[in-house]
This record gives sequence, C-alpha cells and structure tokens, in this order.
Amino acid sequence: MQVKTRFAPSPTGYLHVGGARTALFSWLYARHTGGRFVLRIEDTDRERSTQSAIDAILESMQWLGLNWEEGPFYQTKRFDRYREVVERLLAQGKAYKCYCSKERLEEMRNEQMQKGEKPRYDRHCLHDHSEHAPDEPYVVRFLNPDSGKVEFDDVVKGHLEFDNRELDDFIILRSDGTPTYNFCVVVDDVDMGITHVIRGDDHVNNTPRQINLYKALGAPVPVFCHLAMILGDDGTKLSKRHGAVSVMQYREDGYLPQALVNYLVRLGWSHGDQEIFSQEEMIELFSLEAITKSASGFNTKKLDWLNAHYMKTMPAEEVAAELVWHLQRQGVNSLEGGPAPALVVKCYAERCHTLKEMAQKARCYYEEITGYDEAGVKKWIKEGSVQLLKEALALLKEQSVWEGQALDEALQALAQRLECGMGKLGQPLRLALTGTATSPGIGDTLQLCGRERSLMRIERAIAAFSAR
Ligand code: GLU
Repeated sequence: MQVKTRFAPSPTGYLHVGGARTALFSWLYARHTGGRFVLRIEDTDRERSTQSAIDAILESMQWLGLNWEEGPFYQTKRFDRYREVVERLLAQGKAYKCYCSKERLEEMRNEQMQKGEKPRYDRHCLHDHSEHAPDEPYVVRFLNPDSGKVEFDDVVKGHLEFDNRELDDFIILRSDGTPTYNFCVVVDDVDMGITHVIRGDDHVNNTPRQINLYKALGAPVPVFCHLAMILGDDGTKLSKRHGAVSVMQYREDGYLPQALVNYLVRLGWSHGDQEIFSQEEMIELFSLEAITKSASGFNTKKLDWLNAHYMKTMPAEEVAAELVWHLQRQGVNSLEGGPAPALVVKCYAERCHTLKEMAQKARCYYEEITGYDEAGVKKWIKEGSVQLLKEALALLKEQSVWEGQALDEALQALAQRLECGMGKLGQPLRLALTGTATSPGIGDTLQLCGRERSLMRIERAIAAFSAR
C-alpha cells in the first residue's frame, strides 16, 4: 500500500509554527515511505477564509521546501461532490433531514442541561417529517450509532475509546446548503485516498465522529496520528505573545528555512540526542513511532543556534539567495554592482545571528555610506590617523590583486614598516570603508567594497577626518 498523507490547513490566518510542524511531519512521512503528499485548503468557512491567507500558506510551504504531489485542492470547489455524498447517505437512511427550529433546539438543550444530561439532539426528526413542507429549511444530520464504542489506535496517543452515546447526530449539511467541517474532511480523505491522517491533537475529539462516517461510507479508516501541541518558552500554549509565530515572520526576521525546518522536526520528534539533521537525514530517519506524547516547548535560543549553524555550514551560494531577498526587503539592490552576495555570506556568516542583520551590515557595500559612527571616530581617529590613511591609500593604489588575503598581507607589511600596529591602521580604514568600526578582516572588507569604491572612500575620509 502506498502511503498518502495530507496537510489540510484552514486559510483563516497565516501559517503558524504549529501548522508548519504538522505539515512537515506529514511531508516527511510521505517522503520517508516513498508515498505521496497532498495539500488541501479547507476553505469552507467562507467568512473567515481569505485569499491572502491562502497565499501566505502556499508561500510558507514553498519557502520551507515542503512540496506536494497533489493539490492544492480547495473544498469550496468540491461542493457538488459533498452534496452527492449527502444525497447518498440520505437515500441509504444513514443521514436524515432535520427541520427543528432554533427555538426548539434551544429548549431541548435547556431541559437536558437542567436534568444534568449532556446536550444532544433527541432525534425528533428522524422518523417523522409529516408536519414539514419539502421547501422548508432543513439541515442534514448524520445518523450516528446510538450504542457501542468507537475505538482506534492513535500512533501517538495509543488506544482511544469513545462511547457512541456521547456523540451527537451531528449536522453534515447546514440549512444554507453548505457542508460542515467533519463531513468534508472525511469525504476528502476518502476521495483522495489518504492512508495516514497526521494533525494536531485539537482534532482528537472529532476523530470518533469521523470514524463513524468512514464506516457509513464503507471506506477504510486511515491511521490517525495526533500531535501534541507546542508550548511557548513559558509553558503556555504557543501564541503571538511569544513573539513570531508565523512562518513568514521567521523569514522576515532573518532565519533560514533549513534552520526552521530542522528546528520544527525536533518539536515532538527525536532520534537519540541528535540535534542537526540534513533534509536527507530527516527523511531517512523519520518515523511516526518516534513522535513524543508530551507537548514540546518552543525554545528561541535553540532556533538561533541552528540558524547560526546553517548560515556557517551551508554552501554560501544557497545562503546568498536568501540574503538577496533580505537586501531587497531593505531596499538594497544587490544585483547591479557591489560584491557577490556569496562573498558577503563567507565574510559575515560568523559575525551575524540572522540574515536580516547580515543584510543591514552589508548594505554599505552596495550603496553610499551616509556618515561615520561617532563613537568609532572618537575612539580611533587620533593625531596621525589621517597620515596613516594617506600611506594606506598610496599603497592600495599600487595593488594589482584586489583580494582579501593579498590586501591583508600588504597592509600588515605597511603597519610593520611604519611601526604602528594593525589596529591603528585597520580601524580608521574600517571607518572610512564602512562608516563603522566593526567589519570583517580588513582585507576582506576592502575586497567587499571593491577597488574603486575603497579608494574613493579612503580619499573622502581623509578629507573628512582632516577637517576635524
Ligand atoms: N482544517 C483543519 C485545521 O486547520 C485540519 C483538519 C485536519 O487536519 O483534519 O485545523
């Protein structure tokens, strides 16, 4: 049997960390088993679903590299199919029309509550419709078995049992003709041949109702795998209060998708005490059995650590693609002139926590600097600094190879000859080149700046610092 999993978000907001983790686990399980992964947009709640949320979900999935073989399917495009299945269940006596008014249902509820009973529909409309005209508004209810139990073995939670008497004859079609969530999910999962339903455990209580529907439809019941929720650093359910929770916000904040994916896989899944997993390793090692039962806690420090790791160890060209996005985001055009973004990555990966920070630090190589850091000037521009800059300028003009290491060596030789120490020479140069006193090695900084821009900036700094 080929495994088929799906991710089925409701587009009522951005894709958050919890949803992304569900998507990742479903995707990984399909990849691991050589199966297929389906993306389904559950947009039947037309009031709360928006196109911008759909776009954000698709964009986030693509950014994370979670590609799907089938879909995206949209539930709103499948209404005819749902109607067809409702009609079938009605014809088979497995569902029935209910004409009860809001008032009647309200009254029934109150009575049941007063008697201390769990409110549930009393099946008033199951047998007798004689008092209703066919054009009166009605809902369609599923005829849930009224005795026995629903049992299933959840991969994460183990054996679960629900008493059928606890379950209502729930509505599958509303009076406005729209189908309900529990119904659409089952029809879709059956039609799409889903073998493994991996989702958040906020859906555990829907599962017995859904299993009864599978049975009524004569369809095989899939394997269920309900993931424990993700908690924030402080032990409460992860929410906006804990900072960024939307996947795209992590991109904005300068994280690499590889870091976020690696971070997410460890939220509720483990393989010994290994923390770093390449995509290939994740796919190879992932199993549903190793998913943890307990809720997992979000830990921003660990995500930061992973991000630093990936910035340093991934091929610079790959990181550069993401850096270019950040530069663009900050209004910096890195595609016409300036250093190759991969060189920026090589020189800055060790010096930054995020790509956002890297882009901020690197913008001086792509556009004009507007001034000099006051504190840096105070600290490093002393009597003699201008003279040193002049010496450096003369030396640099002679350099034929504009490359980090060669430039470093030339300047070191100069510092030795002038007996001034590299700091006295390097810091004023950094200020001249970047406007700040912190940058990579001076040779690399010169290479990043480029020959012409470097010479021009040193000349300009000589003028500016002489005037002081
Ligand atoms: N659309 C549901 C949600 O976003 C998921 C349904 C499911 O996975 O079965 O919570």
